[in-house]
Amino acid sequence: MRHRIAVVGSGPAGLTFARVLHRHGHPVTVFERDPSPDARPPGGALDLQQGLGQLALDKAGLLAAFRALARPEGQAMRILATDGTVLRDWHPGPEDRANPEIDRGQLRDLLLGPLDVGWGRGVTRVVPGTRDGVLVHFADGRKETFDLVVGADGAWSRVRPALTPVTPHYTGVTLVETSLDDVDTRHPGLAALVGEGSLAVYGVNRALVAQRNSGGHVKVYAQFRAPLDWHTHLDLADTAAVRSSLLARFDGWAAPVLDLLRHGAAFAHRPLYVLPVSHTWDHVPGVTLLGDAAHLMPPLGAGANLAMLEGAELAESLATGTGDPDETVRAFEERMWARAGRWARMTAAGLERLVSPDPAEAIAVFDQVQPS
Ligand SMILES: Cc1cc2nc3c(=O)[nH]c(=O)nc-3n(C[C@H](O)[C@H](O)[C@H](O)COP(=O)(O)OP(=O)(O)OC[C@H]3O[C@@H](n4cnc5c(N)ncnc54)[C@H](O)[C@@H]3O)c2cc1C
Repeated sequence: MRHRIAVVGSGPAGLTFARVLHRHGHPVTVFERDPSPDARPPGGALDLQQGLGQLALDKAGLLAAFRALARPEGQAMRILATDGTVLRDWHPGPEDRANPEIDRGQLRDLLLGPLDVGWGRGVTRVVPGTRDGVLVHFADGRKETFDLVVGADGAWSRVRPALTPVTPHYTGVTLVETSLDDVDTRHPGLAALVGEGSLAVYGVNRALVAQRNSGGHVKVYAQFRAPLDWHTHLDLADTAAVRSSLLARFDGWAAPVLDLLRHGAAFAHRPLYVLPVSHTWDHVPGVTLLGDAAHLMPPLGAGANLAMLEGAELAESLATGTGDPDETVRAFEERMWARAGRWARMTAAGLERLVSPDPAEAIAVFDQVQPS
């Protein structure tokens, strides 16, 4: 009998894992809680780095297709002071493909390709070590058994409790996300302000970041330090109330910057949670984790990249290895923990500096990472 493998979650980790197995002709079952690929808005564009996300796509045989869709110009970064003064205005060179941007929906469709996903199959619990293998329980009451279950089900993983009791904790920083459509026609001034890539404005313990996606869509993230219950007296479903609360929080900032909030459509509340840095677990035969399920960290350009590379590496090792698959998983976990631990430390330190009492810290971070 062939090794029966299931992956829970069709995010960047799960789909890359499944796609690389598929490329090697190995069957894999994908379970996804969402009822369809477009059940939720896909979220902001991702920058995929050489040596991480792009390497994963190469392993999946999808690098050329990615390059045809990606937007290298999306790497551009402009930083303003809160009064609107331009502090930095960086544009990539014509050959610079270190971190091109791709819309999440485009990436998902690219990875999905020929894969057959079990949509609407939310997993509630995973029980390793039963007589027939790892038992997967579903929200609809069904159960199935596999030899290996890979939890790629994100921050609030339902697979993770089979390995560790650890749960994510709040970082003290909250994002409130909004977006503008058709900016080039409807808000040409804001389109020019944001440019081809991202715009960031850093203040005391708060920041506003706007990111151009394809098709004239701009995502806006208001970020601030606040207790988790900062919205106790606010109805988060009341767009006008959330907008005026944010405008009060960013009071005094340059008018064009605040226009990003004034013209934003609905607001989504996203408090930032993380798993402990260097989080590991005692290996359990038949179950492992990838991506955010394994090492949720602040969203500073690494999470999807790591998730994809982990998916590709584990799949490749399982598909090409000749030894005991469980030993393959164990060796993979050691590599994943070492690399993710380094990124978790970097991104935790990055978040401290990007949303900090001293806005100059944020500029220093940019100057450290950005090629001149
Ligand atoms: C604002 C923001 C910007 C970001 N920008 C970047 C960036 O530019 N570059 C970057 O590398 N990273 C970025 N990240 C981080 C990145 O989004 C995540 O690290 C990445 O999505 C993790 O991928 P994943 O596949 O592990 O998990 P997810 O993307 O969370 O996917 C998990 C999947 O599992 C499904 N699922 C959940 N529970 C169940 C269940 N019980 N049963 C079945 N299915 C389930 C979910 O529906 C989802 O489809 C950003 C994050 C945020 C919030």
